[in-house]
Amino acid sequence: MSNIIEIKNVTYNYVEDEVEYTAVNNVSLNIEKGSFTVILGHNGSGKSTLAKMLNGLNRPSSGDILVDGINTRDEENEFLIKKKVGMVFQNPDNQLVASIVEEDVAFGPENLGLEPKVIRQRVDEALKAVGMYEFRNSTPHHLSGGQKQRIAIAGIIALEPECIVLDEPTAMLDPKGRAEIINTILRLNKEKGITVVLITHYMEEAEKADRVLVMNDGEFIADGTPKEIFKNVKMLKSVGLDVPQTTELLYALNQNGMAVPTDVLSIEETADAIMHYLEEN
Ligand code: ADP
Ligand code: MG
Repeated sequence: MSNIIEIKNVTYNYVEDEVEYTAVNNVSLNIEKGSFTVILGHNGSGKSTLAKMLNGLNRPSSGDILVDGINTRDEENEFLIKKKVGMVFQNPDNQLVASIVEEDVAFGPENLGLEPKVIRQRVDEALKAVGMYEFRNSTPHHLSGGQKQRIAIAGIIALEPECIVLDEPTAMLDPKGRAEIINTILRLNKEKGITVVLITHYMEEAEKADRVLVMNDGEFIADGTPKEIFKNVKMLKSVGLDVPQTTELLYALNQNGMAVPTDVLSIEETADAIMHYLEEN
């Protein structure tokens, strides 16, 4: 598998009142094409700073980021990189620009200077991909948070990116809106093969990823499958993160001498693990 993103010894420093603050500290890793990666980390660990470097919104203070082999430092490729890697942010209201849904989604393709017929196709396809086609003539501010965020995602999809980076896209949504967004992201990844990098606080969202990265103080401190990451309860707690409630339960049972496995995640698997233990002991 080839890499859509290569991060090589990347550091990012903010300078405020002549004081330098290192938000991302010499990180290196690759993101495979077609993969679904979640980045976890408490507030201030450097997730957003890193995310903005993935499509050139931030440029590294040192080190390099390659998008499909193109260095984000090459200013003449700025547009191409933004087309390859789309960004979705926390607040859908800040991302919607037009007063009609389909006009909003058409905004990006129009800026690419595509033909009207192609724009029409892309807008329709993007709205169908996020399950919002029937709302194409609605006014965005009459929609729910989850619907507005799906419109924002459609606006990115209409640019046909290879990768989308979503920075806490569900943080302002209710549970229904969160589920809508996660299902949409999963569908784009599995059916359209779009590479996904999702930053989130929600463990149940991280459980769905191929790979989970944990950030702390500007560095990656863990990298593995959801099961590999979540069984490491002590590590997660030490960096201020929650663990899924199922893991929490299995961990507590272990602490009390009940040797159940801690690398299972779903409620069904957890129930099976406990039943199995009870049968054997
Ligand atoms: P996260 O997204 O994980 O919460 P951020 O990348 O937003 O973390 O921030 C990482 C660190 O960089 C924090 O300590 C934050 O205060 C600092 N920081 C973020 N943005 C700026 C900025 N524009 N100027 C100065 N410091 C910043
Ligand atoms: Mg952030």
